[in-house]
Amino acid sequence: MPYVITEKCLGEVYAQCVDVCPVNCIHPGDYKGQAFMIIDPEECTECTSCFSACPIGAIVESADKDPAFAKINAELAPTFKTHAQVPTRPANDPPKRPDVNKLVN
Ligand code: SF4
Repeated sequence: MPYVITEKCLGEVYAQCVDVCPVNCIHPGDYKGQAFMIIDPEECTECTSCFSACPIGAIVESADKDPAFAKINAELAPTFKTHAQVPTRPANDPPKRPDVNKLVN
């Protein structure tokens, strides 16, 4: 089951996951007016690399852990995969949303 990027990524987009994904299936775009990233469920090989690369824990290991965002990742994938990649943010850059670490994955 493919990995999923969750609400925690909204407006944050550290993009550290992009550098470690061996199949380049993580793509950026705007969702609800905020920067976001998705994992293309058709391409993800469940290699696990991105899970620990996200400094705010915005990635979950299966759709079961966040079915709503699994659906959103799948729906946005065809559009987001056409976008150019975005620059990464340093892992120690403080989150833009002060509440982000209180969001539960
Ligand atoms: Fe890419 Fe692996 Fe993460 Fe899937 S689990 S999105 S293949 S880094």
